[in-house]
Amino acid sequence: MSTVIDGAATLAAPVATPLEDARAQLAEAIALLGYSDGTRQMLATPRRELTVAVPLRTDAGETRLFTGYRVQHNFSRGPAKGGLRYAPNVNLDEVRALAMWMTWKCALLDVPYGGAKGGIAIDPREHSQAELERVTRRYTSEILPIIGPERDIPAPDIGTDERTMAWIMDTYSVNSGYTVPGIVTGKPIALGGSQGRASATSRGVTHIALAALRHAGITQRQATAAVQGFGKVGADAARFLAEAGVTVQAVSDQYGAVFNAAGLDIEALGDHVQRTGAVVGFAGGEALDGAALLELEVDLLVPAAVEGVLHEGNAGRVGAKVIVEGANGPTTPDADRILRERGILVVPDILANAGGVIVSYFEWVQANQAYWWRADEVESRLEERMLSAWEHVLGYARSRDLSLRTAATALAVERVAEAHKLRGLYP
Ligand code: GLU
Repeated sequence: MSTVIDGAATLAAPVATPLEDARAQLAEAIALLGYSDGTRQMLATPRRELTVAVPLRTDAGETRLFTGYRVQHNFSRGPAKGGLRYAPNVNLDEVRALAMWMTWKCALLDVPYGGAKGGIAIDPREHSQAELERVTRRYTSEILPIIGPERDIPAPDIGTDERTMAWIMDTYSVNSGYTVPGIVTGKPIALGGSQGRASATSRGVTHIALAALRHAGITQRQATAAVQGFGKVGADAARFLAEAGVTVQAVSDQYGAVFNAAGLDIEALGDHVQRTGAVVGFAGGEALDGAALLELEVDLLVPAAVEGVLHEGNAGRVGAKVIVEGANGPTTPDADRILRERGILVVPDILANAGGVIVSYFEWVQANQAYWWRADEVESRLEERMLSAWEHVLGYARSRDLSLRTAATALAVERVAEAHKLRGLYP
């Protein structure tokens, strides 16, 4: 992300990395709270990070080597918690940023965790299920000493799913000599996964999106929306928004986008993606450039893919009134500033997409107690936590004239710093 192509180097400033963005957000919160530079340094730096070599014996019998990471950003409020990402461009700085955002997310939603993130620089689409299983088991073995239900609890993220979590749980359990369901969240329900976990992030995004639209004076039945990403977060968010009466006009994935002014049939689009692997070519809409989706004149934009998609170069052209971040880190600090100047309401990732980790927490509680909750219990507790965090952040932002991101980050940083202070610095 930070490279600039030859001739353009003199014209364009280097693009900041997600870690620089995350640290800039932290620095703003630290300044607001009046904390010392020592506190800033401590919170800008992960407590622990592990880089591991992950050799794979391919189905063809060859050996290939991948690099894996697990970064534990903070433990002040409890065990580290966060997803595991499989994508070709995964790197240590990205994982550091994602781990820091997990710390803020858990603190903001008041779940008793610190933050972590893991990843392997691998393209899962290029591997068979058997290869992915071997990679996952080897990676798990390599990070075994630092994970555990009281230490660090992985979960799905981009490129991983409940099957990946089942392999991690099994590898950890076999090495422990007994079954440890609390080692991961986002497991299959048959292994102690929680009802409602798979759709939790999208449900949470929808609760927040509807609250944000109401706050902006837009009734949901008159609202239009565009969703970037049709994966674990975007697909169900588009579906729940449509079910709530929002006209979802555009959806994209990494291959392209589709648009229908009258609203896309999300279920039919889901069937098309199941069959073809992409949204492009969907008969119920016209083709649209993926980048153009971000600039559509809609009430609601939900970036639900990757970091840094709203930046200095396109923030001035964003046509939405409200942005609800389904992805982690989709808006750079430069874009945040431009969007704020333009009066566009941005609901930050650490609030908007926290539904996943909330139900992860519920799953961990259930696994540790060996007692299972009904789907409606999970869903109502999720909604209550999301909406009370929304009210809290909104109140804090209003009373201090802050953006929702600065308010959310400051609230979270305050909680983490308070826990740290109460525990004291050892020795
Ligand atoms: N990967 C998800 C996130 O970014 C979920 C993490 C978790 O449940 O631990 O929030």
